[in-house]
Amino acid sequence: MKLFVANWKMHKTRAQARAFAEEFGKLIGGGMDGAGAELVLAPSWTALDAARDARGRWALACQNVAAEAEGAYTGEVSAAMAADAGCRYAIVGHSERRRYFGEDGPLLARKLARCREAGLTPIYCVGETAEEHDAGRMENVLSGQLGILSRDAADAPLVVAYEPVWAIGTGRTASPADCARAAGLIEALLSSRGPVRVLYGGSVTPENAAGLLAHGHVDGCLVGGASLLAESFAAICRA
Ligand code: PEP
Repeated sequence: MKLFVANWKMHKTRAQARAFAEEFGKLIGGGMDGAGAELVLAPSWTALDAARDARGRWALACQNVAAEAEGAYTGEVSAAMAADAGCRYAIVGHSERRRYFGEDGPLLARKLARCREAGLTPIYCVGETAEEHDAGRMENVLSGQLGILSRDAADAPLVVAYEPVWAIGTGRTASPADCARAAGLIEALLSSRGPVRVLYGGSVTPENAAGLLAHGHVDGCLVGGASLLAESFAAICRA
């Protein structure tokens, strides 16, 4: 099954999420399991309920979880609360969290541990910046970012999203060959653990999705901007 995740970031009120869900439901009809696609929406906390599908044609993810299990951490939401609110997946280590909120390896390792305790499957994001890319350091960076998984349960389900920072929200996309190379590298670096699904993220559109998935190794897409419209996210899932 290919996996398609819509990362809405800090977009959509509950009414907008409800409207998306209604339109998306019409576009995918009975669901996309038969077409080999698993679908996931990652709304903000406030829109989780509004984005839920009573028919179970898509699952929910949260965009972040707290590094602590419980306690006096004003403004935080725990992994257990996310699971209780209906999430199956949690995005961890998105480059926007790394960049704007200073999230780094040790903190992200704690977030992954909290996901495991709560039964959430992490969608762990990795990727190099433009400078690192231009300096030919992609392999190095990925290997460092994946290092924290050495403390993760090796047989637990895991999704890794390769999201080159220079491709997120920029309209620049990794070439299908580069994308397959990065996914192959991730698979190799994680070969001692159980099955890992590797997604690509970074300016995925209905026009480029099929090409990005065509090379093998890539098991789906994490989609930001193009997931905000039901029609374009459905078109990517159909790809
Ligand atoms: C993302 O934020 O995970 C992402 C891939 O964004 P976009 O598709 O807009 O580049």
